[in-house]
Amino acid sequence: MSARTRADLEQLPAYVAGRTVPGSIKLASNEVSEGPLPAAVAAINEAATQVHRYPDMGVATLTGALAERYDVAPEQIAVGCGSVALCEQLVQATCTASDEVVFPWRSFEAYPIITQVVGAKQVRVPLTGAHALDLEAMLAAITPATRLMFVCTPNNPTGTLLRGAELDAFLDRVPSDVLVVLDEAYFEFVDDTDAPDGVEITRARDNVVSLRTFSKAYGLAGARVGYAIAQPKIAEALRKVSIPFSVNALAQAAAVASLRAPEELRRRCADVISERARVHAELTALGYEVPETQANFVWLPLGSRTPAFNEHCLANKVVVRAFGEEGTRVTIGTPEENDRLLAAAKSFPG
Ligand code: PMP
Repeated sequence: MSARTRADLEQLPAYVAGRTVPGSIKLASNEVSEGPLPAAVAAINEAATQVHRYPDMGVATLTGALAERYDVAPEQIAVGCGSVALCEQLVQATCTASDEVVFPWRSFEAYPIITQVVGAKQVRVPLTGAHALDLEAMLAAITPATRLMFVCTPNNPTGTLLRGAELDAFLDRVPSDVLVVLDEAYFEFVDDTDAPDGVEITRARDNVVSLRTFSKAYGLAGARVGYAIAQPKIAEALRKVSIPFSVNALAQAAAVASLRAPEELRRRCADVISERARVHAELTALGYEVPETQANFVWLPLGSRTPAFNEHCLANKVVVRAFGEEGTRVTIGTPEENDRLLAAAKSFPG
């Protein structure tokens, strides 16, 4: 007799990571092409001499730096092994078997996987025809069993943003015993002045968590570090369900150093934002439908032409991220990388 794994895992789709193809440029995982901030690399090198020691389990220095940055108490912060780990901790901290997690779909592909692994019930709410979150439908999906909602803004993979007023009106109508996770992985790339700021929202609402990451704008995707800001009781629950030492020492050091370079971060984000506008305008001029985006990627809802577009980009040495027959997500890279993508988009026969 062989060892048995859970039968329900057989139906579970695996997380699909953006591919790295030698010799091709990768615009598939919403990373920043410029690399980590130099101060982060220096901090990693320094911390490397101490990797024979366990990291600080309380993540005190980074938590303190985040508390200062956002003017919140350290008790309101939970740091995780990427914000995806915190997504899982959020489900673990709120749900048991019969509980429901409501999330938009399509959105971050880890939501359904995590929900199923933890053993809770997924409730997927389709996006609107304009590729945006359908808040009315998300409210309608709430039942007495709902414990958690993921609200991804800007939404991955469509890039669409919720405006502050619509989010506020939505939050007014969510029952106070349902925890709402504002997944703001792409927050630093937002330049719309009507955008909500999740951390500000947590000051006024007990049932909201702001979830952010060092993987995107900060260029630390490989280091794996993200954070949640919430009421102390929620942050404490997130720390309780975490595996010990989940945030490694190199990641902690790199994140602290990155927080100390706000000007450089702003400059990098401004570059991405201006390239985003250029890529959006040029793709639109080529005849592509491109929803307004506030993230570091654009969404091309190509439908059945998606696989062919993906293959065409690969043949032109550009790796993009195709989602079945729904569409393709393309990360904004350096100006040269974006030119390569635009050239491929121009020569796409479909
Ligand atoms: N949330 C969203 C919306 C994302 O797109 C991602 C990464 N693709 C994450 C969370 C997780 O990022 P990380 O674990 O690298 O912090």
